[in-house]
Amino acid sequence: MTEAPLVAGIELGGTKCICILARGPDQIEETVRIPTTRPEETMAAIEAVLDRWSGFVAIGIASFGPVSIDRHSHDYGHITTTPKPGWAGTDIAGRLQRRYGVPTGFHSDVVGAALAEAFWGAAKGLPDIAYVTVGTGVGAGMIANNRPVDGLTHSELGHIRPARFQGDDWIGNCPFHGACIEGLVAGPAIAARIGFPADEAPAEHPVWDGVADALGQLCHTLVLTGIPRRIVMGGGVMGASHLFPRVRAAMTRSLGGYITLPEVALTDTFIVPPALGNNAGPLGAIVLGAQALGHKLETSFTPS
Ligand code: ZN
Repeated sequence: MTEAPLVAGIELGGTKCICILARGPDQIEETVRIPTTRPEETMAAIEAVLDRWSGFVAIGIASFGPVSIDRHSHDYGHITTTPKPGWAGTDIAGRLQRRYGVPTGFHSDVVGAALAEAFWGAAKGLPDIAYVTVGTGVGAGMIANNRPVDGLTHSELGHIRPARFQGDDWIGNCPFHGACIEGLVAGPAIAARIGFPADEAPAEHPVWDGVADALGQLCHTLVLTGIPRRIVMGGGVMGASHLFPRVRAAMTRSLGGYITLPEVALTDTFIVPPALGNNAGPLGAIVLGAQALGHKLETSFTPS
């Protein structure tokens, strides 16, 4: 087994940024947390941390988005159309790659977390998984053969339109689609609908029936699109643990018996909470850096 490379990872979030120097979850040398403010100030603070570190052979960045991940695009490595003031069009990966001269991986924070859960977390060793985060927004990252499933850009499955829950005609709050998944089940959508924060809604509140139904349909779509071996679901809204059995049941109902794979039928092990908690983002950046280097991280998966 070759030793994993030392990587400088950066999880660039909307409010805070975590820099991590590590080879993996058991070999973390240092973690530094800095606030995300204006781009120039934040990038300079990141560089001040990396300037102090030595020995890293790659950089990985898992960023809030949307981000440009197409290496053939003129804006590769940039944050693109974010509403976050000042950040639209900011070059992240190119700037750090030029400064440090090492291979640099760059992707969305959702895909970063998906990679971390696939290599070291709740889907450890599984080469094909999906990761869904349900928080202030809804994001879904798909991993196939240990790599992100990418097209022109990363997937935006959080914005698919579900069939409406019986009797529900609430218009939703996505500014683009109204009642897409994100417009129905993200934390702010639930709060807009019920008039108080989602995490204060008890398990028996009727809002959860529609939330579980929509998330079950998202899982239905993920199953039919990527045929993941497991779906990991995290984010603040999924902190309501009563949602898991309801989402599992909703997915099974929605699939209607079409998929008979035992892995999918065993929903308790098919749809699971994350295992890495707040470390998923920073560790995802480590995976992105290692993959940019061409390093094949060890996993425990053996094909049956
Ligand atoms: Zn939408």
